[in-house]
Amino acid sequence: MTPAFEKLQKYLKQLPGVGYRSAERIALHLLVEKPARLPALVTALQEAAAAVRRCERCGNLSEGGLCAICGDERRNAGLVCVVEQVPDLVALERSGAYRGVYHVLHGRLSPIHGVEPDDLNLAALRARIESGGVGELILALSNDVEGEATCHYIIEHLPAGRDVKVTRIGFGLPSGGGVLYADSVTLKSALDGRRDYR
Ligand SMILES: [Zn+2]
Repeated sequence: MTPAFEKLQKYLKQLPGVGYRSAERIALHLLVEKPARLPALVTALQEAAAAVRRCERCGNLSEGGLCAICGDERRNAGLVCVVEQVPDLVALERSGAYRGVYHVLHGRLSPIHGVEPDDLNLAALRARIESGGVGELILALSNDVEGEATCHYIIEHLPAGRDVKVTRIGFGLPSGGGVLYADSVTLKSALDGRRDYR
């Protein structure tokens, strides 16, 4: 292989879910098999990098101040479902069972992996609750040790003087995978069967 090829392969391999062999296949595909596709891909990457950011309220993907969900007045803004990652939100949206809004933490607490509260979108959650209007917080975090630890942290750091109902889903969802790997029917029953969490 050439130095430039190996450099591209190295960066591709750093992407989630892409191993050494896949990185080699993708690089070969882009450079040798279908080079005509490359300019459009480069343009799409540049445009997305310039346009896509986090919603200033919930952390979902957005191309303006607020994401499409926060900006939708038909959604119940007082019902906030806390998820770890954007794909969890997408899975819940796909289920069609939820009409509230979200808060995306972009991870969960993990001392082993060096993920501290400041690394997560937690201050914005607290600010949302402090500003009022949040009636219920649905914790849709993984039902494993790190998910539980994150739930506890959220409860322990709720702003004083705000009467917020806190519920938890995750019971009955695939262990460790949580929302992301559950089908729509399971997600709907998990939402319907959410339990008080404090
Ligand atoms: Zn939003």
